[in-house]
Amino acid sequence: MRAAVMSEPNVALSVEEVTPVEIRPTDVIVRIGASGLCHSDLLFLQGHSPFEPPLVLGHEGAGVVEDVGSAVRSVTVGDRVVCSWVPACGACWYCVRGETRHCPELMSAYTEPKLRRPDGTIAARMTGVGSFAEAAVLDERALVKVQTDLPDEQLALIGCGVTTGVGAALNTAAVAPGSTVVVLGCGGVGQSVIQGSRIAGAARIVAVDPVALKRDVALKLGATDAVDPGSESTIDVVKGLTGGRGADYAFEVAGLEPTLTSAFELIRPGGTIIMVGVQEHGARIQWSPLDMLMQGKTLRGCWYGGADVRVEFPRLIRLAESGRLDLASMVSRRITLDQVNDGLDAIERGEVIRSVIVN
Ligand SMILES: [Zn+2]
Ligand SMILES: [Zn+2]
Repeated sequence: MRAAVMSEPNVALSVEEVTPVEIRPTDVIVRIGASGLCHSDLLFLQGHSPFEPPLVLGHEGAGVVEDVGSAVRSVTVGDRVVCSWVPACGACWYCVRGETRHCPELMSAYTEPKLRRPDGTIAARMTGVGSFAEAAVLDERALVKVQTDLPDEQLALIGCGVTTGVGAALNTAAVAPGSTVVVLGCGGVGQSVIQGSRIAGAARIVAVDPVALKRDVALKLGATDAVDPGSESTIDVVKGLTGGRGADYAFEVAGLEPTLTSAFELIRPGGTIIMVGVQEHGARIQWSPLDMLMQGKTLRGCWYGGADVRVEFPRLIRLAESGRLDLASMVSRRITLDQVNDGLDAIERGEVIRSVIVN
């Protein structure tokens, strides 16, 4: 099966034939139907990876079960599945509380060498997934079986960006009906925060992004206002919409320290900042703890949408099937596996909401 391998940071991925080193009893071979290109793939390629290359990138995938190991019970050949980039054991302290996103039991699976390259070296899989491929080997606990007629290119997005963004609004923030929301950064995750806030009943949703395409899509997906931070003051717009108070919620999705710092001034006393974007190692929060205390503001970290994947993925599918969650509008480009490097470049240039590899 062909897969896109990162050999070293800042070197283009090479699409090559790889073969599984072994198939363990709990392993599943998934024929990947589609894989979204997420900003985290680009960050890994740029050297911000906790895992040593060589590494098959891709962590936002969906497809069909092609073969199963002898002990696999949760899926069978022919099942449609969405990959979960936190393999959730289902039995640990976190999993039994519905916090599968913190499951520590399968972290070792992340770095297990799984795939042999043509030159004989062994590659690992990004977060135990490695979906930039025609097929992938995953532990069954990294898969969620789904029953739907939605296309793989939409299901794939649920594996990372949509769960993260919609979950940030519905689970982490629990956005209240009638509230005012600011979304800082409107790529795939930010658009999902906007949709989650719309589904929750937010009255004003302010989308902030320097890229015109992203602002336009945001307005289509539920934003009531769009701000180009290069030409207007976000804080002036937000204060103008809220009687000078500030927003109830600010979602920092860009993963940038200055943006996170600015979020503090965008929320009202008693408001909440939700950190969704992945900050660089070493980044520090720049605001005053005393101000935070006296203004009663809250900061919440959002990891994988605060979701329990086995509940969240089917819920998101039901929302999409009912027309309340628009996944189709988030697919900006369909590309082939061989075009994966062009797709990563397009993320860096801010040209897309999501490019999706469709096999
Ligand atoms: Zn991702
Ligand atoms: Zn667990």
